[in-house]
Amino acid sequence: MKPYQPEQIFVERSIEGSPITKNVLDRLPGVPTRSIDSTEFLLEESQRWNPTIPRSKQSLILAHHKGKFFKPCPGSRAKEGLKGVCCNYFVINYASNCHMECSYCYLQSYLNFPYMTIYANQVDLITELKTAFAGSPHDFFRIGTGELADSLALDWLTGYSTVLVEFFARQTNAVLELKTKSNCVGNLLGLEHGGKTVVSWSMNPRYVQEKEEHKTSSISQRLQAATECAEQGYPVGFHLDPLIFYPAWETDYRDLIEEIFRRIPASSIAWISVGSLRMTSSLKDTIRRRFPSSFLPLGELVPSPDGKMRYFKPLRMGMYRQVLRWIREKSPTTQVYACMEGPGVWKEVFQSVPTEAELGEELIQCVV
Ligand code: SF4
Repeated sequence: MKPYQPEQIFVERSIEGSPITKNVLDRLPGVPTRSIDSTEFLLEESQRWNPTIPRSKQSLILAHHKGKFFKPCPGSRAKEGLKGVCCNYFVINYASNCHMECSYCYLQSYLNFPYMTIYANQVDLITELKTAFAGSPHDFFRIGTGELADSLALDWLTGYSTVLVEFFARQTNAVLELKTKSNCVGNLLGLEHGGKTVVSWSMNPRYVQEKEEHKTSSISQRLQAATECAEQGYPVGFHLDPLIFYPAWETDYRDLIEEIFRRIPASSIAWISVGSLRMTSSLKDTIRRRFPSSFLPLGELVPSPDGKMRYFKPLRMGMYRQVLRWIREKSPTTQVYACMEGPGVWKEVFQSVPTEAELGEELIQCVV
């Protein structure tokens, strides 16, 4: 992975004393830094730029998160028209945006505030989590930090994971998932994690990684990082998402699955998810503009009821069935689930349609 190097840092005054702020500034000593009262003017400034994304990613904002950090995953809740099978997942939005430049990244057309942002008031996050867990002692929470940012790509700068992993190790009704396309696991090694943090990698064949996931860690680096985490007793996960169709997809995904199970013992793998390529028409336009050599917009994508375009259903289901078969050949018992798919796909691929509670419970049982 190419480490993120901002050209300037803006620090909101209210979090100047935070340990996260200190970590970042200590690790980027030569980068010009400016104190600000609020981030509002930055938004106005970015709206005058064209194109906005590359320029705004050159600035790192250390901000005070004023809303809720912790919420149900918007992707897994049933949305109008899609009726997706939900996996009862929660998210922590500790940061937003990502420098790794995957051509298909939905953040390009989703974020209103286009800067690289880290919310440095981590103490408020921990307070919020304590309150939520204590307020629902009979519920069990599976929580990820990888919705609006990669969970670990900036961890060498922030040290965010250290506090989170040790906090979750002490919880009796919650597990954390750190989802990444990086190999930044240095801060995780040696922590008292208590088996309550799943470190997971989004995976694609090398061909896709090299063509479409531009600044991410290579597949070999991700597998090496997963091996190190498994050796440290972390449960690890893999997300074959987005599955991408191209002429050699069958050979390449089969090889990838074989390589995963060759490197990582099945007993260390908490879960594997599958999901197909999806994009809105605005994201498709952005991919064409920002990544003209990407082959993804050339795929035959058709609109789904939730407004996103996906491969048409028979193709998706054929891909899921094959991938599931290759996983089952290696490990008949590893938990596999589909992300952002409806009951029809579940029924035909997995032969059952779990409720939100059942799927959430099954996934939790993979960890605790
Ligand atoms: S690693 Fe994830 S968050 Fe970062 S650009 Fe790629 S898809 Fe987006």
